Amino acid sequence: MSIKKAEAIAVSLPFDIGGPKPTFAGIPRRMEILFIRLENHQGLVGWGEAFGLSIWPATLQAFEHLVAPLVIDQDESDISGLMERLTRQLHILGRSGAVTYALSGLDIALWDMAGKKANQSIGEMLGGPKHTQLPAYASLMRYGCEQLVKDNSMRALNQGFKGIKLHETQVGLVHAARSVLGPHVPLMMDVNCPWSIEESLRAAEELCSAELYWLEEPIWPPEDFEALQQVRTQSGIRIAAGENNISVLHFEQMLKAQSVDFIQPSVTKIGGISAFLKVMALSDQHQVPLMPHSPYFGPGFLASLHLASLLEEEVMIEYSFADLGANPMGSAVLLDQGFLKIPQGPGLGQDPELDILREFRVRPQG
Ligand SMILES: [Mg+2]
Repeated sequence: MSIKKAEAIAVSLPFDIGGPKPTFAGIPRRMEILFIRLENHQGLVGWGEAFGLSIWPATLQAFEHLVAPLVIDQDESDISGLMERLTRQLHILGRSGAVTYALSGLDIALWDMAGKKANQSIGEMLGGPKHTQLPAYASLMRYGCEQLVKDNSMRALNQGFKGIKLHETQVGLVHAARSVLGPHVPLMMDVNCPWSIEESLRAAEELCSAELYWLEEPIWPPEDFEALQQVRTQSGIRIAAGENNISVLHFEQMLKAQSVDFIQPSVTKIGGISAFLKVMALSDQHQVPLMPHSPYFGPGFLASLHLASLLEEEVMIEYSFADLGANPMGSAVLLDQGFLKIPQGPGLGQDPELDILREFRVRPQG
């Protein structure tokens, strides 16, 4: 059996976050999801997701021009062999970024096909899920405004979310959220790599009374694991990071340096399910808990749920706090009283709604 067709399908969806939308180059963002669709000669279809958001045109091009030609007529059941060959063959064109994101989407789609053929969910194929559902935390986008941070933190709590993560860089906004949430709701702060060691330590001191569950990615550049380790040991605040690690080796280095309290691999960035499983093994070996980076709404989110369900300890699932104008994955990605059900069907457990893909499909301009 071999692959007959490999395509990348970008959809661009309107969304609402209860405040002004984030912008890119001054233009309000939309929610872009990059679906990967594989079909074999028997007509079996597998779905994946490659990291999209604002980089989707580059990832789409990488998939169409580099990855797709190399997978046609290849045996889809040899996932590790195919991924190893392509990763080596394409390494000179990028060990990170669009190429690796495209390969991540490919890997997820291959696992979806494998599960469908075996009539098992991905979780079942990998030893069986340990949980039927997992708690979700709301990952709020950046508002930069005290009232909006307070309002949306409470809106998320009232929707049932079990924790709140802010993407604010001002310490005062974290205290504002804590003041309305009360002392017991897990509250996280994700600053996306802006600070030096000194700036991180200063912020950590000011954050002390906010009782953060974790501080995410304080250090620039993200791969400075020694700096991260210094912030961790000197601040006493738990540190989470890993979404910007470009390889499994990076996770190994991060863990050896004792830089973090939580590792956060991203299945649509790191190389798909195959690479994520290797990071899971490292998490186990180093006894550092894993919290998936998963602010997606496509097959990558379902892959994250299956992978997280394999962990003995119950982990919180990152859920992007945004109401979409249309939801391609239907009820599979919807919250139920603060929990997400682990999908039950073969493969990822749910195919996208083709009508929605057709209606919101986009192509790169130019
Ligand atoms: Mg983050």
